[in-house]
Amino acid sequence: MQTITKMTKRPWVLWVLVVVFLSLILWNIPIEKRKYGLSQSNLVTDYTGLLPERVERVMEATNRSDLQDIIKEANEKGYKISLAGLQHSQGGHTYYKDGVVLDMRSLDKILEIDEKNKTIRVEAGASWEEVQQAITPYGLALKVTQSQSIFTIGGSLSVNAHGRDIRFGPMAGTVKEMTLLTPTGEIITVTRDDSKEWMKYVFGGYGLFGIILDVTLELTENEVYAIQTEEVKTKEYEDYFKRLMDDDKTAMHYARVSVAPETFLEEMYVINYDITGEIDKDTPLKKEEGIRISKFALDIGRKGGKLEDLFWETQGHYIDSLDGSTITRNNVMRSESTFMEYTTPGRVEVLQEFFVPVNSYEEYLQDLKKLLSSNDSKEDFKVHNITVRYAAKDEVTTLNYATEDMLGLVILIQHGLKKDEIEGAKKIIQDWTDLTLKHRGTYYLPYYRYQTKEQFKESYPAWEEFYREKSQRDPNEVFQNLFYDYYLKEGSTS
Ligand SMILES: Cc1cc2nc3c(=O)[nH]c(=O)nc-3n(C[C@H](O)[C@H](O)[C@H](O)COP(=O)(O)OP(=O)(O)OC[C@H]3O[C@@H](n4cnc5c(N)ncnc54)[C@H](O)[C@@H]3O)c2cc1C
Repeated sequence: MQTITKMTKRPWVLWVLVVVFLSLILWNIPIEKRKYGLSQSNLVTDYTGLLPERVERVMEATNRSDLQDIIKEANEKGYKISLAGLQHSQGGHTYYKDGVVLDMRSLDKILEIDEKNKTIRVEAGASWEEVQQAITPYGLALKVTQSQSIFTIGGSLSVNAHGRDIRFGPMAGTVKEMTLLTPTGEIITVTRDDSKEWMKYVFGGYGLFGIILDVTLELTENEVYAIQTEEVKTKEYEDYFKRLMDDDKTAMHYARVSVAPETFLEEMYVINYDITGEIDKDTPLKKEEGIRISKFALDIGRKGGKLEDLFWETQGHYIDSLDGSTITRNNVMRSESTFMEYTTPGRVEVLQEFFVPVNSYEEYLQDLKKLLSSNDSKEDFKVHNITVRYAAKDEVTTLNYATEDMLGLVILIQHGLKKDEIEGAKKIIQDWTDLTLKHRGTYYLPYYRYQTKEQFKESYPAWEEFYREKSQRDPNEVFQNLFYDYYLKEGSTS
């Protein structure tokens, strides 16, 4: 009683206690990393762990002539090779039953930075993190990369990744030159005007057309951007985005769509990075910050229902607080990732991405509202987050997800691991894919294989050309992975 009286006389004591209490809670939030990768009790998995498989062995990619010997030997002896970067793909793209996995991560040298011509030549096992470390002191930045820097160059080009940039087109288009170890064991230099058109198949080719040894990437200036944020309605976004593209002041952009019950698929927060004309050589690369608090907020949102409403509102305040601040291009391309770690036993969190033509966005979202449940707190299949990015028309790759200018919806989904729960998730994602196809859209291939073989073929009508070229350029089918086996080998006969 006495203590309480003392506290009311001195309210700061109460505040100190509240702060200490909250700090203790936050401090104790475990940041446990997912367990995945090349050795999980003799099984190999990728980021989601959904397709564990036994492989013959894992070999470190050391030097080029050793790699050449391995490929020649595989051609002679008939063993199968898969390539692994940082294994953020989620559908067995980096390994194959009883095959050999080449771990590309040690092929990671920065070979040359040409400051005048703004290019970097880098080995394909390096991560974007390493590239950013190397180019930032020169005031240079990447033209296109994912929103995070946690991927290898080879892995990113093999899926033809995209991110927040809205001006430089597809990632594959930023490669000037590539050194490739072909499926028959030759090391060749490939340029954009190469008559054999290797880039068309290697980029977005999921490691099936040889080993990317190094690439020369076009760079741009490490510009300083002014962050501009606002809230828009989903029905206004299509026009909003078109105006943004017509007006040249914004260099990078993304948006979040509400998945909270009260504003489900109706509200969006947009984040624009507007050109200031300044170039930066001094600002250091930002480190991950606020991991525990972000994880705490995300975990609240993961509960769904009213708590998800609260999470959406909190995100709004946070995004609003960024308005008017400045950030360098390199720092936009390295957003936080650790807070997304999810390790609850019996459940998994996966990504999916659907693309629709910019002109179809509004109608698509209206239809999507009818397909998904706005309050999934009691359901097994939960949608936690949707971000929207622009994927410019791609004229380079064969397995092409952007045959015209597209908006990509990146979706963070959680579901259970029991057989019926996986089947339930499959059903919803397949319905979602049908809806996307109905709107002339497609889906992204690095993720888990929820989609049917028919949906794959409809989404990627050039699959036959891809498959035919694969048989010609890799006659002994040396490069294999579970993705290829399921959608292309099995798919071609079904
Ligand atoms: C949390 C998270 C966030 C993501 N965000 C984005 C995003 O913002 N934008 C986006 O587009 N994608 C995104 N992705 C998908 C990601 O870009 C791809 O999974 C990408 O392939 C990851 O690179 P990696 O190094 O992990 O590749 P891996 O998964 O290791 O490999 C991917 C493919 O590339 C092949 N490969 C690897 N190295 C080589 C090489 N040297 N030569 C030839 N083939 C090779 C592999 O065989 C495999 O088929 C995200 C994924 C996760 C898990």
